[in-house]
Amino acid sequence: MRLDAVITDAVERLAPDSDSARLDAEILLCQTINMPRSYLFAHPEDVLDALTRDRFERLLKRRLDGEPMSYITGTREFWSRELLVSPATLVPRPETELLVELALAEIPREAEWQILDLGTGSGAIAVSIAAERLMCTITATDASADALAVAAENVRQADLANVICLKGYWTAPVTGRLFNLIVANPPYVRSDDAALQDLRYEPLAALASGEDGLNDIRILATNCTALLAEDGWLMLEHGADQQIAVADILEAANWVDIACHNDLAGKPRVTVARRNGK
Ligand code: GLN
Repeated sequence: MRLDAVITDAVERLAPDSDSARLDAEILLCQTINMPRSYLFAHPEDVLDALTRDRFERLLKRRLDGEPMSYITGTREFWSRELLVSPATLVPRPETELLVELALAEIPREAEWQILDLGTGSGAIAVSIAAERLMCTITATDASADALAVAAENVRQADLANVICLKGYWTAPVTGRLFNLIVANPPYVRSDDAALQDLRYEPLAALASGEDGLNDIRILATNCTALLAEDGWLMLEHGADQQIAVADILEAANWVDIACHNDLAGKPRVTVARRNGK
């Protein structure tokens, strides 16, 4: 079968479930034949041999089963950088770039801040901040050794000497230390949320957090207080309908200057707060 016909057939099969059917089909075919996308347009008449066609079918089948493209390709772009991802890590979302943006807006260019990224996953947030603020040191923690290995590899590929990866549950690996800024994209989906079915390829522990989705945010609101230097910032990503609940949790834990920011889709997505100096 010719390359253009292989693509047309795959697009037809992907279209009912994917709003990026053509792009998905082209990327999967490129991965199969190990060629750049431009090759597909330059050589539409190339014919796939049966073996290669089988390999393409296997990738296509995974996508048709609902597996995210990022797990099939092993990569995802975040903050203009191609990052490695694996099923041990969440696929970094565009809305999480807001967290990076808010953090960078507070970190002075030449600051030598200590920054903590809790539950780093693929290391997307840590790597992005570290690359923009080379004088700062970012400590990235994760309870999953497999996730942390992906983060460490992303740090290595970005050639960053200012990120330290530590394994452990939330703040456990950094007890007794002080930071200027703590960022986290914790799990925040309600455990009975039907949307989890669509996210079934991603690690549940990185997505769901109890009945109201706020269990881990409660833990962070409590445990981060002792880890911040005076005037230190806490910045948390959360669900679009959790703005008020998160503010209440932070207020009850004595945080001040609490403010919520909208993501590019206009949804309340990141709440920032400061440690109460009193
Ligand atoms: N934003 C993700 C989603 O709803 C959830 C990520 C998270 O729980 N941190 O798809």
